[in-house]
Amino acid sequence: MTQVLIVGSVGIDTIETPFGRAENVLGGSLVYAAASASLLAPVRVVGVAGDDLAPSETEFLAKRGVDLAGLEIVPGGRTFRWSGRYHYDLNSRDTLATHLNVLADFDPKVPLPFRTTPFVFLANVDPALQASVLRQVERPRFTVLDTMNFWIEGRRADLERVLTHVDAFIVNDAEARQLTGQANLVKAARAVQKLGPETVVIKKGEHGALLFHRDQVFSAPAYPLEEVYDPTGAGDAFAGGFIGHLARVNRAEPEDLRRAVIVGSALASFAVEEFGVGRLARVATKDLEARIRAFADLSRFA
Ligand code: AMP
Repeated sequence: MTQVLIVGSVGIDTIETPFGRAENVLGGSLVYAAASASLLAPVRVVGVAGDDLAPSETEFLAKRGVDLAGLEIVPGGRTFRWSGRYHYDLNSRDTLATHLNVLADFDPKVPLPFRTTPFVFLANVDPALQASVLRQVERPRFTVLDTMNFWIEGRRADLERVLTHVDAFIVNDAEARQLTGQANLVKAARAVQKLGPETVVIKKGEHGALLFHRDQVFSAPAYPLEEVYDPTGAGDAFAGGFIGHLARVNRAEPEDLRRAVIVGSALASFAVEEFGVGRLARVATKDLEARIRAFADLSRFA
């Protein structure tokens, strides 16, 4: 087992779904990804928040062993805020507001002891920050990048630049189409591979995920949940599980990548069961193992 370094957003979210509303709850790509990955491997994070974020909010991560030494708290600063509204089928959402606040001037400094971390996850945040973190780490074994429509629209050139330096890219179906201009997901994945990463994962919400590794394709189902309350953070939880598994086995061979997609899918299925990060914070290793077994049963056939 080896360590994972995660850079991403720490946010305060307001979320509306057809099932209700949660106001000013802890969120952000770093938080969901670290909650997920820390079930599998030791995690250290680099991020920023304002002092309007109560220290008690991130305590559950510290209890999971997440090293928060790289989480900068800006005195008098306001934490990143995001609000979104989900449509009836929960597969699509509109962003209602994005306030970068302290993220706008963030200059990430990777603490010295973090710089040799072998597995690096550049979670959804400004691609210029992702690139800065990548420059500060020393020859990582495996790097994974995530992004979002906001950055594809606003920072495409920076995003394409950082994409040339990573091993794997995780993206949802709509964002893969937006980035490549290809409606067909196989063509979209191939187009992303041409931009740099040898491995591309396309998430399709309740329809599972596709893994493209070199010329191989692997299809994973999503867990058929009867109650889905809030998809926020599912993508980050997926990615945290994906890199967490690779760090746990300390390898990224084709078979490891396939299992990593299943582990990620299992963690994403927990993330959506409640509003915010609460469910993910309570998942125990035995719950995760049981759900991974359920995934194996889901598409087993003779
Ligand atoms: P996901 O549902 O996996 O796409 O991630 C949702 C999380 O991403 C929320 O908790 C938000 O706080 C965070 N988020 C939303 N927009 C951005 C953005 N532009 N940059 C960084 N994080 C964001």
